[in-house]
Amino acid sequence: MDQIMIKLKCENCGVEYHKPADFKKWNDTRPNVFFKWSLSFCDSCRRNKEKEALKNLPEIIKELKYGFKYGDATIERHISDEKKGWVVLGLETTKQKLQIYVTNTGKVRIHDKDGKEWLPSNGG
Ligand SMILES: [Zn+2]
Repeated sequence: MDQIMIKLKCENCGVEYHKPADFKKWNDTRPNVFFKWSLSFCDSCRRNKEKEALKNLPEIIKELKYGFKYGDATIERHISDEKKGWVVLGLETTKQKLQIYVTNTGKVRIHDKDGKEWLPSNGG
């Protein structure tokens, strides 16, 4: 199958390069900075930019697509309904895996890895 290619110009060095048009379509729906850079910079400039960006990230924090890692904690967005305003976040450590459900009014319900609800003992 023939790929439709789009012509791009590197914002850094001005060289012309090509990327599949699907690339752009994909990026428009799922914005990702590395992906965006591949539409703004030629491969060699983009690689340099990525190297710089990764160097600047603090060592302990690892960014994930929908969350981040900090020490033994991984926090991620699992599912959400933007229209209704609720979100389910995951908090995972080597010993525990919690699902944190936040309603559109800010109420919180927490379930552990066995599906058991964590109830506030102090009325929170
Ligand atoms: Zn370039």
